[in-house]
Amino acid sequence: MILRKLIRPLVRKLHAYVPGEQPKVRNLVKLNTNENPWPPAPGVQKAMRAAVDDRLRLYPNPTAQPLREELARLHQVKSKNIIIGNGSDELLALATRAFVEPFDSKCDDLQGSRRARCTIQWFHPSYSLYPVLSDIHGALANPVPLNPDFSIPECKELRRRGWLANAALSYVTTPNAPSGRGYSKAELDQLCRDTKGVVILDEAYIDFAEESAESLVRNHPHVIISRTFSKSYSLCFQRIGYFIAAPELIDALDRIRDSYNVNGLGQVGALATLKSLGHYRKNFKRIKAIRRRTAQELESLGFEVLPSATNFLFVRPPGPSAKTWQRKLRDQKIIVRWFTASEVCDYLRITIGTDKEMEACLQAVRKILK
Ligand code: PMP
Repeated sequence: MILRKLIRPLVRKLHAYVPGEQPKVRNLVKLNTNENPWPPAPGVQKAMRAAVDDRLRLYPNPTAQPLREELARLHQVKSKNIIIGNGSDELLALATRAFVEPFDSKCDDLQGSRRARCTIQWFHPSYSLYPVLSDIHGALANPVPLNPDFSIPECKELRRRGWLANAALSYVTTPNAPSGRGYSKAELDQLCRDTKGVVILDEAYIDFAEESAESLVRNHPHVIISRTFSKSYSLCFQRIGYFIAAPELIDALDRIRDSYNVNGLGQVGALATLKSLGHYRKNFKRIKAIRRRTAQELESLGFEVLPSATNFLFVRPPGPSAKTWQRKLRDQKIIVRWFTASEVCDYLRITIGTDKEMEACLQAVRKILK
């Protein structure tokens, strides 16, 4: 039997998301996936260990209600404004299913607003998962180029580049990845005014930035704020992300999620995290300080370093190509990320690690330059 025939044509054509390498050996300096270099707060590990008991045979809270309530308190909203996901990636995927009509290629003469209802748009370059999610859903993809300095084009220019006012769903990575560039609340406010479909402001890296656009949710009911415990709260392993939005949008997502989408230990870990915010705020400051020192050092070594509002630096190395630099650094046990897309293939993305890790990275750079 030809098994291929059993697979939907759309799925046969898909390309899976390419995650950063998770190396099998331990003696590498891992600066490639924007993980936090420090472990979760002691209270988090303690709470999770204590939860490994008879409870493991029970289902977890199906809506992660205690966590929703804590997050509601933190963000001064109601728990009906919050949904928790198995990482923010899960919620970004749910949003495609809740808000976007799959495109029916049999009626590819769809025009205007009917076409827009099948359209997902995002800025390019930004988070490389968005095109994958759009393709999985069978949506019409509308990647719109950012300016060469990765800023968001002004309204008129935005339209000229094809940004649709009425696309069913728009993803905006803010601060941007992989460039690291931050966007002000005022410019995002303008973008939300100019865009009528659902807009997701993906604030995965916001704790390393100057300003959150969180308050826009209050004035713009079509706007969703996306957050994750993965980066700032050192909890990638547990897969916890959340959306803040109008109850109607949250309710739509709630209808289509898996019944127990958030695992029990993750809920315990996330709740304990929120009790240790002081611990994490110190970490954000440390990361920003190491980011500043590393940027200065790399600049003095001839790198072009873009301003960063995230826990990584986007840098253009001197001399050989960025791809060669990645390989040479890897030979010296330093892993950084390099992307193939033409707008970004001259750059390396370097996650901010501990002082010791960054010194090891700089040492390797100096050695390569010699
Ligand atoms: N948004 C952006 C911009 C990211 O870089 C990531 C991490 N790859 C995520 C969302 C997803 O984070 P998580 O699923 O771990 O919550």
